Amino acid sequence: MINTMSADDIVEEILKGNRAILAKAMTVIESTHTKHHKLAGEILDKIMPLIGKAKRIGISGAPGAGKSTLLEALGMYLISKGLKVAVIAIDPSSRISGGSILADKTRMTTLLGDYNAFIRPVPSGGHLGGTSRRTRELIFLLDAAGFDVIFVETVGVGQSEIEVADLVDFFCLLQLSGAGDELQGIKKGIMEVADLIIINKCDGDNKIMAEITQNMLKNALYILKPKHSEWQAQALTCSAKDNIGIQNIWDVVDMFYATMESNGKLAAIRKEQDIGWFKQQIEENVINMIYNTQDIKEFYSRTRARVESNTLSPRHAVETVSQYIAQKLTSEVPK
Ligand code: GDP
Repeated sequence: MINTMSADDIVEEILKGNRAILAKAMTVIESTHTKHHKLAGEILDKIMPLIGKAKRIGISGAPGAGKSTLLEALGMYLISKGLKVAVIAIDPSSRISGGSILADKTRMTTLLGDYNAFIRPVPSGGHLGGTSRRTRELIFLLDAAGFDVIFVETVGVGQSEIEVADLVDFFCLLQLSGAGDELQGIKKGIMEVADLIIINKCDGDNKIMAEITQNMLKNALYILKPKHSEWQAQALTCSAKDNIGIQNIWDVVDMFYATMESNGKLAAIRKEQDIGWFKQQIEENVINMIYNTQDIKEFYSRTRARVESNTLSPRHAVETVSQYIAQKLTSEVPK
């Protein structure tokens, strides 16, 4: 049905709170079919002036750290305060045609059933790069649709956290206590991008260990170079299961926004992310265009073969290929 609607009608329905149209518009935005590109572009152009109100929060952590339990607790807390909450759940293990993260029915069932919540699983196909391109646009749609808080959840594997940190205003890392896990974060450079580290499962026999971990992480965070000079990253404990420490977490988020909004830093972060994304996409597109041009591809392969056979130095080869591309560009671009 959405294919027969105009971008104006679609945006109007989204602004009215039509969830079915919102979900379909998200599918159009995620679509790799060229037939959807025009409509996706028109929808995005129309909503851009309307966005900017929602808080964009990233939550990452190893499988089993308690991300979905925490999102339920935090989500329901925010809903009880009259807010509307969306979750974009990026699942690195599934592909578009494969299983979805929500196939596991135990995930976020309370939020799923609440009218003030909206959950969108996004399969990343094991590679976040392609997903984060679209995830940014899904955040814009949810913002326009009136959600006050948009969570982007990722499983903490490899580089995905770092990429997600660039999509959100505030990035939380969910840690388990003990087992040297806390130092793993430092090694992978994840702590540098965290605005808040949450040590979950601070309950029962685990409480003391969680508090020890919290102190270690606090000390480590003081030593690290801050991500923003205006914000000292914090370490908090919580029990998502027992609903303990949830309000503390949100108080810290509120404090972050109060600080960053009052000095104009939030707008600067978002602008920097938008421009960074724009530059990255242009670079990717240009490189793809170059490599997909038949004679450039052939010239590149021939030159590469000469490098492999040691008949041309790599330095000379770079110059030769670059000059060839430059010539092609100037001869083909209309003056
Ligand atoms: P995810 O894979 O990070 O989304 O983790 P889940 O939210 O699915 O939680 C993994 C397991 O940890 C589940 O069995 C939860 O019940 C349990 N869990 C989550 N939060 C807590 C907590 O605060 N305390 C305890 N003791 N268990 C928890």
